[in-house]
Amino acid sequence: MTVVTRFAPSPTGYLHVGGARTALYSWLYAKRNNGKFILRIEDTDLERSTPEAVQAIIDGMQWLGMEGDGEIFYQTKRFDLYKSYVQQLLDEGKAYKCFLSKEALEALRERAEQTGERIDYEAENEKLDVVDDSVFVVRFRNPKTGSVKWNDAVRGEMEISNQEMDDMIILRSDGSPTYNFCVVIDDWQMGMSHVIRGEDHLINTAKQINIFEAFGAKVPTYAHCSMILGDDGKKLSKRHGAVGVMQYRDDGYLPQALINYLVRLGWSHGDQEVFTLEELFEHFDIENINNSASAFNTEKLNWMNQQYMKLLPAQEVAKHLVWHFENQGVNTANGPDLAVIVDLQAERVKTLKEMAEISQYFYQDFASLDEKAAKKHLRPVAKEPLSLVKEKLAQLSEWSEENIQAAINDTAEELEVGMGKVGMPLRVATTGSGNSPSLDVTLVHLAQEKVVERIDNALAFIAEREANQ
Ligand code: GLU
Repeated sequence: MTVVTRFAPSPTGYLHVGGARTALYSWLYAKRNNGKFILRIEDTDLERSTPEAVQAIIDGMQWLGMEGDGEIFYQTKRFDLYKSYVQQLLDEGKAYKCFLSKEALEALRERAEQTGERIDYEAENEKLDVVDDSVFVVRFRNPKTGSVKWNDAVRGEMEISNQEMDDMIILRSDGSPTYNFCVVIDDWQMGMSHVIRGEDHLINTAKQINIFEAFGAKVPTYAHCSMILGDDGKKLSKRHGAVGVMQYRDDGYLPQALINYLVRLGWSHGDQEVFTLEELFEHFDIENINNSASAFNTEKLNWMNQQYMKLLPAQEVAKHLVWHFENQGVNTANGPDLAVIVDLQAERVKTLKEMAEISQYFYQDFASLDEKAAKKHLRPVAKEPLSLVKEKLAQLSEWSEENIQAAINDTAEELEVGMGKVGMPLRVATTGSGNSPSLDVTLVHLAQEKVVERIDNALAFIAEREANQ
C-alpha cells in the first residue's frame, strides 16, 4: 500500500503548535514509508478564511522544512468536483433535497431539544404541501440505526452510534459544499491511506466514514492525537506565550529543535530525547503516539534548543542566527563569521535571539555600557591596568589569542594585581558588559584598533565619572 498522508488546515489564523504537530506526524509517517505528504488548504469557510492565514501556514511549514509533495490543494478551487459527487448521491438516493424553511427548522430543533429525539428531516419534508423547489439544501441520508466503528491507530477500537448523527447538510442553499463532505471527497480522491489529526475531529470521523461507505470508497486509517495543554493543564492558548509557529522563530528557536520538541510531545521511542531527522524518518510510527494529553513545557523546549545550537554544525545554526541580527538592526557584514559566534556563545544562551543580543558588540559599538558592570569595574582603580593593557595590546604585531592572553597576563604581573583586576575592566570596556566568553577568544574577533578605541572610551568614561564626583 502506498502511504499518503496530509495536513489539511483551515486558514483562519496562524499555524499553531497543535496543527504543526499533527502536520509533523503526518509528514514523518509519509517519509518513513516512502509515501506522499499532501498540503491541502481547507478554505471552504469563506468568511473565516483569509489569504494572510494561508500565507502564515505556508511560511510556518516552510520554516519547519515540511513541504508537501506536489501542488498545494485549495478546496475552494474544487467546488465543481464536490458538486458532481453531491449529484451522484442524489441520483443514487443516498442524499435528498431538504426544503424546510428556517422557521420550520427552528421549531424542529426546539422540539428535539425537549424530547431528546433525533430530527427526521426526511419525514418532515414529506409532510410539506407546497414547496418552493428553487430553495433547498442537500442532506446526506445518514444510516438511522447501528453505529460507526473503526480501529483508531492511536485510540484503538472506536464506536459512535448513528443515533448521534443527523442527516447532515452536504450542499448549502447557496450551492456551496460543506466541510465534512469536501474532506471525504478529497481524502478519497487523493488516495489518503492515513488521516492523522486532532481528537476534536472524532465525531467528524464517524460522519465521514458514513459518506465514504455511501460511495463504496476505501476508508483510510484514522489516528486521532490528543490535545496539547499549557503547563497549567489548561487548553494551550496565547496566555501561555507563543502559540503560532513563526512566533517561535521570532523568539529564537531553531526549527530543528521545535520539530524535535513537538515530535516528542506525545510520541516516544524508548528514552531517546534528541533525534536527527534521519532517525525520525527511521523510527517514527503511529503506534507510539501517546493517547493522553501532553503539556507544553517551555523549559524543555529551551533545553532542546540549546542542545541543537550545540549539536548542529555551527554553519547551519548561523543560517538562522543571521535573521535575528537583521531583526535587531545589526549588520553582520563586517565582523566575525556567524559560525564563530555560534561556537562562542551556544553554551551561554537558550535562544538565537539572546545569542544575537549578547553578541552585538562584535559588529557594532554599544550605545551604552551595562550600568552595573561599569559601576563595579570601571572605577579609578582600573585606569592603570586599562592603560597598560591597552599599550601592550596596541603594540602586538600579531593579533592572536596567545598574544592577547600574554598581554593581559603581563599587565597583571607587572602591576602585581590579580588577573581579574585587568580582565574585568577590559571585558566591560570592550564588550560593554561583565559577561562574555574568555577575553582572548573574544578580542581576537574584534579588530585590534577597535579594542584600543574601546579601551580609550572606557578611560574617558572613568575620567568623566571622576570629574563629576
Ligand atoms: N481543516 C481541519 C482543521 O483545521 C482539519 C481537518 C482534518 O485534518 O481532517 O481543523
